[in-house]
Amino acid sequence: MRGDGRLSHDLDPRDQGPKDACGVFGVWAPGEEVAKLTFFGLYALQHRGQESAGIAVSDGSKILVFKDMGLVSQVFDESSLGALTGHIAVGHTRYSTTGASTWENAQPVFRATGHGSLALGHNGNLVNTAELAELAAALPAGRGPRHRVAATNDTDLVTVLLAGQTDAETGRPLTVEEAAPRVLPQIKGAYTFVFMDENTLYAARDPHGIRPLVLGRLERGWVVASETSALDIVGASVVREVEPGELIAVDEGGLRSTRFAEAKPRGCAFEYVYLARPDTDIAGRNVYLSRVEMGRRLAAEAPAEADLVIATPESGTPAAVGYAEASGIPYGSGLVKNSYVGRTFIQPSQTIRQLGIRLKLNPLKEVIRGKRLVVVDDSIVRGNTQRALVRMLREAGAAEVHVRISSPPIKWPCFLGIDFATRAELIANGLSVEEIGTSLGADSLAYISLDGMIEATTIPKANLCRACFDGDYPIELPDPALLGKDVLEQRDGHPLPLLTGPGAADALRRP
Ligand code: 5GP
Ligand code: MG
Repeated sequence: MRGDGRLSHDLDPRDQGPKDACGVFGVWAPGEEVAKLTFFGLYALQHRGQESAGIAVSDGSKILVFKDMGLVSQVFDESSLGALTGHIAVGHTRYSTTGASTWENAQPVFRATGHGSLALGHNGNLVNTAELAELAAALPAGRGPRHRVAATNDTDLVTVLLAGQTDAETGRPLTVEEAAPRVLPQIKGAYTFVFMDENTLYAARDPHGIRPLVLGRLERGWVVASETSALDIVGASVVREVEPGELIAVDEGGLRSTRFAEAKPRGCAFEYVYLARPDTDIAGRNVYLSRVEMGRRLAAEAPAEADLVIATPESGTPAAVGYAEASGIPYGSGLVKNSYVGRTFIQPSQTIRQLGIRLKLNPLKEVIRGKRLVVVDDSIVRGNTQRALVRMLREAGAAEVHVRISSPPIKWPCFLGIDFATRAELIANGLSVEEIGTSLGADSLAYISLDGMIEATTIPKANLCRACFDGDYPIELPDPALLGKDVLEQRDGHPLPLLTGPGAADALRRP
């Protein structure tokens, strides 16, 4: 259970890691099995969210949605996919940033419009949810109540707004394509939306392009996805990024692109550090190469006297490869990861909880014994992973453990799609690097510099969001009390802003 009484599905609920962004996928392809293409696209995006998965399909006259809690492979099987027939599909893998982890909040979300219906998936997190809730409440009478049902996540509010727009003079309901350019500029925060009505696939990306979104081409259709790795898996060629501030529509009339806001690119730097798959390209830069280069620069900035470089698998591996290469210290496998232990619906007992990191990682004692180790990981958030790891490596006989981190200290919460801890929970907030090293029990600890990390991405600093490292948020944040994950949980039908609580609700007011 979390402090708020909801069940958590982490192995150790008290030790929740930070949460990833979600994954979105959309396809328009007459004659193809679009549900199966979406299934495999979501497979390639599973790392972006493991709480729930869903697919919506349209055959031109109706939209069907199938979604459930769990991994893509747990939610879908041959028969459910077989029932989802049509030529347009959108899919989603979810990690909650706003709204509880419940079935009602799984995506794609579905809603009736004045012309038919709408299904939508969202990656990111909105920062003016309270304002959007007011806009939704102010929709013309007669349409409002029907559209206000059970929205406890920011995504559902967006569908309420898209579905409920009317022509000011005639009162005629607007189509989704007419409503989108009106609604999107009112939304603040990080978003990539993939949505559809019965006939058209849409994709939109926020003006800062904080989360990634790419456009791909199939022989007989179009694909949009959070990452290029999801285009690769379905055999689509990469056409280009969906531009920040761009709305794309695809139907039998072809592909239409419109701009609803000026592009001010501030892509999330943490995508390059941890979130995205290594085989993905973002803004034309490959993620694996960025991580290897971070490792090389880390080795130059923070050398260590050691016998062996090992990675904290999997996400620390490319940086460890770069560190070894640049330092000349041999690279080896020191830890074996059990890939099949991820999220589980088994509630851990106290005894199992104490196993902690052992459930996921097992040291290779024969490799480690007697060695001075450099252990490379991509990031430290609360410090739990490295603290447990240092102890485990010492027990396995390591002579020295030098921890090297391929991103700078994380000092600020993310309001834009990663559910990082509150400021008070971030170990780098308030402790010096040396103090953190002591708290981890490491012989030494060093992080890459901010500029070193950014140069490794090859993206200009001004075009990246580095807020979790330097507090420079690309978007003006409203009252922190209105930013919490549970801002839309209802009491007596009214939004209930949490003044304290989980997520980042009170982050800016805490020490
Ligand atoms: P810590 O144990 O310090 O709280 O978290 C750091 C570890 O979590 C690192 O090993 C890193 O690879 C991983 N990590 C970093 N960011 C995220 C994230 O957004 N989601 C998840 N699930 N893990 C993350
Ligand atoms: Mg990790």
